[in-house]
Amino acid sequence: MKTIIALLLISLTQVSCTQTDPILGQTEITKFQGNKKGAISVTYDDGIVNQFTIAKPIMDSLGLPATFYIITGKVEGSGKGKFIGRDPREIIQETAQIKTDSTNFFERASLIAFTGTSEAEEYHARAGSLFEQGKVTEAYALIDEGYEKIRNGTMKDTDDVVFHNNIEDTTTWDQYKSYAAQGHEIASHTVTHPRLAVLDEVNLLYELKQSKADLLKFIGPESIFSAEGPYGTENERVMEYAHKVYPSLRNRMPEEWLEEINRGSKMTPGESAKEYIQWQRGPVTRIDINQMKAWVDTVMTHDNNWLVLVFHGIENLGWEPKTRPELVEYFSYMKAKEQDLWIATFRDVTKYLRERKATEVSSKVKKDSITIGLNLNLDPLVYSVPLTLKTYIPADWTSAQVIQGKESQSLEIQSDNKGAYVIYDVKPAGGNAILNGGN
Ligand SMILES: [Zn+2]
Repeated sequence: MKTIIALLLISLTQVSCTQTDPILGQTEITKFQGNKKGAISVTYDDGIVNQFTIAKPIMDSLGLPATFYIITGKVEGSGKGKFIGRDPREIIQETAQIKTDSTNFFERASLIAFTGTSEAEEYHARAGSLFEQGKVTEAYALIDEGYEKIRNGTMKDTDDVVFHNNIEDTTTWDQYKSYAAQGHEIASHTVTHPRLAVLDEVNLLYELKQSKADLLKFIGPESIFSAEGPYGTENERVMEYAHKVYPSLRNRMPEEWLEEINRGSKMTPGESAKEYIQWQRGPVTRIDINQMKAWVDTVMTHDNNWLVLVFHGIENLGWEPKTRPELVEYFSYMKAKEQDLWIATFRDVTKYLRERKATEVSSKVKKDSITIGLNLNLDPLVYSVPLTLKTYIPADWTSAQVIQGKESQSLEIQSDNKGAYVIYDVKPAGGNAILNGGN
């Protein structure tokens, strides 16, 4: 047995001895695109019009992409918010006889948001908040109180479909489509911004699927990859449904190689040993610009951080607004460090990380060329964000070029303590890449 192993070892050694140096051809997919130290995704929630008239132009002038999670039911032409189920009058009548409990709570909490008043919508949102905090009895009692007011006709009346935080949003699908064409991500924040955790199945699925259908219809497949369930929910039941509708959620990602530090967490990125850290921060009104810059600096001192910023209001519109001058200063600060930071949409960073984890790379070294094989174990139509590779090349190459398919590019030769190398981008499903060297 020992002899066989020894023979095997000898033959393996002989194979690798055909290369002069074992480092030659060694190839890795860099942690972030462009071999950057970290990534930043700038995200905006709720589709507030100032995000497009104030924040987006600032980012455009710096060439930075953003992700906008929009409430699709607010956009003209989309599927509107509605209650799906039994006759509302029947449900309302029942509330006079039967107290709210686990058997009827989701149906009642779903309906109350659509009974035509903003106060009723608030009952939905407050009951949802209590439920998600585990205060179930209080949530039931609140629903009973709300329906009592409906039965007595004492809730103030409006005739609109009522949205939480009902701020006027005038952006059209044509505008959203043009923003997507500019490289921004326009994605789902549901149809009406409900507390998904207290919706019954049919209404929960409508909020997720109708929003997706409209994004696909009015923008295209790039808009239905990531989504954000309102109020940053991490409710298990909601996550289970939502992960079947959207490939990625900002709320939560299931990958075990990714540490998620959510907005409420005090954990710091240095405290986790996981391969990647997704660090979500909310630049709310009271957070000053120096604190915001410090987040960017923290990303630069690690090699595995993905900072996800969650903005809401801008200037005088929306929840926890930030001002125009703050945004100008902040995004300019980020831009100045772009050499070390990959600033990309939530969608593209998610795709890159998953592609990197699901791609096998092989290399075959010849005298003047290295062939790089790529095997992507994901749907190539969805996962097509270019991957950045680092390959060690022979020390005597004075020039290098990469060819993949019909594209070729000259590369800068760099070196570290292991040897000379090149950094280049490839399409994960674009077939073999060939590195050619000259000397
Ligand atoms: Zn929201």
